[in-house]
Amino acid sequence: TPTIRNVTVLGTGVLGSQIAFQTALHGFTVTAYDIDDEALDGARDRLEKLAATYAEEVPLAADGKAEETRNAITLSSDLADAVKDADLIIEAVPEVLDIKRETYQKLAEVAPDETIFATNSSTLLPSDIKDSTGRPGQFLALHFANRIWDFNTAEVMGTPDTDPDVFEAVVQFAKDIGMVPIELHKEKAGYVLNSLLVPFLDAAAELAAGGYADPEAVDTTWRIATGAPLGPFQIFDIIGLTTPYNIFWHGGPEKQKLAEWLKTEYIDKGKMGVASGEGFYTY
Ligand code: NAD
Repeated sequence: TPTIRNVTVLGTGVLGSQIAFQTALHGFTVTAYDIDDEALDGARDRLEKLAATYAEEVPLAADGKAEETRNAITLSSDLADAVKDADLIIEAVPEVLDIKRETYQKLAEVAPDETIFATNSSTLLPSDIKDSTGRPGQFLALHFANRIWDFNTAEVMGTPDTDPDVFEAVVQFAKDIGMVPIELHKEKAGYVLNSLLVPFLDAAAELAAGGYADPEAVDTTWRIATGAPLGPFQIFDIIGLTTPYNIFWHGGPEKQKLAEWLKTEYIDKGKMGVASGEGFYTY
């Protein structure tokens, strides 16, 4: 099995910065790449804020370790230089197929032959991208959740071409950075989590928007009857209502009704979820 020591993260946005930080905290040598100096200024801000959050919330990052971690991450806008020593490259560039493909085509030219490529894509299948990588055997998806230090699942999903040793090495890497690896045996849009969560949240919204039951009643049912700690509307509030709104809006005429309901009853009234202090519940 390949050994992973040096990791390069491509894209230093919401998820890329978290992946870089989490990986560096666990002792790997980390380089974070973004397209230009302006993007790297953004990366510095994000890593600064993450260091503060980790220092507060993550025991391993206490006693100055968060600061140390932040300083240990090398930032670069030179792709060839950023990947020259990488054993593993984790790609977290925007969720746009053309940007992903272009990124892998460039990578294929400059990365060492043995480097493993992993995509953090939420909605694309690795098979949609694999031909651009020039190394389908060493390519797979490694999908994190936002706030990875807390919501620490890492879904690992290959294509039929992914080398089983590469898959195994990435599962081990996920464990080594404090994740709980979730192995998928076949490709599935939405992986495990969103395959469950999306229809669940849809069904809840249909019940409330259709006037069948109040959000509180739906949540109460779910909590009491299944023993789950949270009902679907509590989960909506944690996610924030904008993302579900966008997903409903692009989901066809029936789902658009749910989007309109979310907008008029909640979003237009400033009720965006936990982050705004009010959503389906008040915080
Ligand atoms: P983001 O917009 O916050 O960050 C994207 C970063 O990529 C930016 O820093 C941008 O400067 C950079 N970038 C743009 N073009 C680039 C290029 N050609 N090469 C390299 N970098 C480039 O996006 P995000 O929310 O961090 O999402 C990134 C990926 O992670 C997406 O595939 C998304 O599906 C996935 N993801 C996101 C979440 C989430 O909750 N945000 C959760 C899981 C997975």
